[in-house]
Amino acid sequence: MTDTVKNVRVFTLTVQREKQYLGDVQPGEEPNARGYLVRNANRTVYPTFDRSILVRIETHAGVVGWGETYGLVAPGAVAAIINDLLADFTIGRDPSQPSLVYDDLYDLMRVRGYTGGFYVDALAAIDIALWDIAGRQANCSISELLGGARHEKIPAYVSGLPEADLKSRGELAKYWQEKGFNAFKFATPMASEGPAVEIEYLRSVLGPTARISADMHWNQTAEEAITLIKAMEPHDLWFAEAPVRTENIGELEHVSKSVDSAIAVGEEWRTQYDMQQRIERCRIAIVQPEMGHTGITNFVRMGQMANEHGIDLIPHATIGAGVFLAASLQASITLDCLKGHEFQHSIFVPNRWLYDGEMRCSEGAYEPLSGPGLGIEPSAEALRLIESI
Ligand code: MG
Repeated sequence: MTDTVKNVRVFTLTVQREKQYLGDVQPGEEPNARGYLVRNANRTVYPTFDRSILVRIETHAGVVGWGETYGLVAPGAVAAIINDLLADFTIGRDPSQPSLVYDDLYDLMRVRGYTGGFYVDALAAIDIALWDIAGRQANCSISELLGGARHEKIPAYVSGLPEADLKSRGELAKYWQEKGFNAFKFATPMASEGPAVEIEYLRSVLGPTARISADMHWNQTAEEAITLIKAMEPHDLWFAEAPVRTENIGELEHVSKSVDSAIAVGEEWRTQYDMQQRIERCRIAIVQPEMGHTGITNFVRMGQMANEHGIDLIPHATIGAGVFLAASLQASITLDCLKGHEFQHSIFVPNRWLYDGEMRCSEGAYEPLSGPGLGIEPSAEALRLIESI
């Protein structure tokens, strides 16, 4: 008899952090009463702590799967979508058909225009948990369910150098280079002496073989982005990420066709439709889907679209409890176009106690994950910290 979903539970997991994401708080960036602060450099809100949303799905046979999505701010929005709507339409479904369930749940709100944002984040968490269950039922990893790993390891790049000054950022990059990593990304809004000076200095510290990319945080007009990218290009820029506002596809098209550098985009996308309308118009070299937004179902669809269009896949990695990172590694490794994966050293290393299972990133690469399912699960310590929402 087919095993079906019995219940769906939603939790927040909050972890205090010692060092602020994107570096020390600057004057005028003081957190509000909820612990939210706005970074002047990119006008974006961040919590002073790490928080994500975990979804636990259990079947009638007692198989448990975990999913995860963004919970940085307003976690109640995602929780309400699941508790009030999606949970009841997931209960009774066959978890061995996660993509089918995903598409049915997506269709529930499609004609009302809920094709992204918190709604699709909620779907992503459910989708990851269903894939986890499907793997556990079949006693194989999600990679195996998706057809098998096509890479022995996943090259990792060191993302973000959250130090206050250029010299300290260079020292941090050097520290990771000595640990076997040779690919890096800095944030242009945090480049206190300007992006061109930043990359020139990092190049001098890391040498000619290092790959150095720049995350531009959607923070400039097309003309400003073109000027900044051209100023970085003489120092062998690996890729320029998120050069202009996400909604403005025309500006992205203009920038992408005006510079020689590889343009990387996609961490904020939810579905393959977000990708499709941009790659049709723009010269995109790299897509960076984020598992916490896409779920496995859409992540794989984006990866297949990248394969078809000769675009490289270098997934985003965000602040989380390890569940969506494991899902990202499981799905990524099955895609030919995978060229690397973000490595959030400021989260991955200190937060490894949040999950049980072997998820390793060392000597410049992630190890493949085994199964069953995700190959990891929240640890006993994480389960003590989670709160129902
Ligand atoms: Mg980014």
